[in-house]
Amino acid sequence: MEGQIIKILSNLYTVSCDGKLYECRARGKFRNDKITPTVGDYVRFNEKENYILEVLPRKNTLDRPLVSNIDQAIIVTSCKQPDFSSNLLDKLIVVLEYNNIDPIICLTKLDLLSKDELEEINEIRKYYSYIGYTVLDNTEIDKIKDKLFSKTTALTGQTGAGKSSLINKLDPNFNLATGEISKALGRGKHTTRHVELIEMFGGKVLDTPGFSSIDLKEMTDCDIRDSFIEFSEYPCPFRNCMHINEKECSVKEAVEKKEILESRYENYKKFIETRR
Ligand code: ZN
Repeated sequence: MEGQIIKILSNLYTVSCDGKLYECRARGKFRNDKITPTVGDYVRFNEKENYILEVLPRKNTLDRPLVSNIDQAIIVTSCKQPDFSSNLLDKLIVVLEYNNIDPIICLTKLDLLSKDELEEINEIRKYYSYIGYTVLDNTEIDKIKDKLFSKTTALTGQTGAGKSSLINKLDPNFNLATGEISKALGRGKHTTRHVELIEMFGGKVLDTPGFSSIDLKEMTDCDIRDSFIEFSEYPCPFRNCMHINEKECSVKEAVEKKEILESRYENYKKFIETRR
């Protein structure tokens, strides 16, 4: 049978398959093959002897937290207190795009905005939708629930953005469940944070304090460029154009014509510069 690892405690792997949970162990051969099953892995397992037989090819693997096969991430993005940060949002999107994870933007604290501020945010929001991203308010709970169906989703966002209250609105049992688990583990015994996928609305949700590996160091300049998905809509005369120093550049033209959001382009340049 095939299932997905949702939890690992010592040598015990909890595999979810067709709504049932199986407590499995890994065969010794994994150690020889240098394959370490991680949370999120799709595995082939023997349901009678409760052994994991094979880890199936991964779509992606993140280091911190160590987890595989994340399909999408909800970026909980505050509009006020803390103020909206296009830099932080774009950085997260770049990291997600690079790891083949679909970003979903969830705006919070819109009710704290003045009329002018709201207009500004709506313009930004329109742009991100236009280039292909789903943008939702944290009040659109049903739409968020629908998005979770049959996917493995990470919830991420800066401190104070309202991630916990969003989780609470989705499912009040969620915080309770993760709280109980960390209590059972005992504080201080484990230096790494407990990682678990929680089954919710037909999908699985990873609660993470954020991608702590959110530096762009492991990416090349081209990786960063290609993670700004709208740039590819503007073919430049130079095939490998970086859209910075080149004289003739369709992306720079599009920024001037306001077809590309200026803050996106400025963030792109900053990300490239900070690597130097
Ligand atoms: Zn260019």
